[in-house]
Amino acid sequence: MTIATQELASQELKYLGAYGEDTLRQVRQLMREDRLGSLLAGRYGQAHEIRNDKALYQYVQELKNEFLRNAEPINKVFFDNKIHVISQALGMHTAFSRVQGGKLKAKHEIKVATLFKNVPLEFLKMIAVHELAHIKEKQHDKPFYKLCTYMEPHYHQYEFDVRLYLTHIEAGGNRLWDGPDQDLAAPQRPATGGR
Ligand SMILES: [Zn+2]
Repeated sequence: MTIATQELASQELKYLGAYGEDTLRQVRQLMREDRLGSLLAGRYGQAHEIRNDKALYQYVQELKNEFLRNAEPINKVFFDNKIHVISQALGMHTAFSRVQGGKLKAKHEIKVATLFKNVPLEFLKMIAVHELAHIKEKQHDKPFYKLCTYMEPHYHQYEFDVRLYLTHIEAGGNRLWDGPDQDLAAPQRPATGGR
């Protein structure tokens, strides 16, 4: 085992802490071979078109109407560039109460990290579903994930791939879906000598 391999083997994969050692070993292997980015790019299509807060609000509201119609209302949804994925939060859900017509009403606010403007729709959906599920379930427990997979059957796969993407970026990899004018016809050169 070379020193570089040892370093990589002991490197903390902080977005993947919840996964087993077998999985982590495979991820490190992919990173060593510089294949994590191409794997993700190959698994998903182009970036989605939801580029502003209004479109994001509509998208989340439609999901809510479809799956959680009777849950408490969301009154605000927006992209937030102050959410640092570094701190391991991908989105945020805030519940607050206020008196309305003599009654205490809960309101919910959903923030999505700006990074999710430039990702495939599957990734955005994963975040939206996750934050919507928090309206009903506060903890990341069994009922919470049950609700997530009810809204999106592939939830766990998407969450894993979102975490792989964050790991890829953190390791200095290219943002795979950035930029509106990407020439998709041009073959992507494999990054060599990158970190
Ligand atoms: Zn959460």
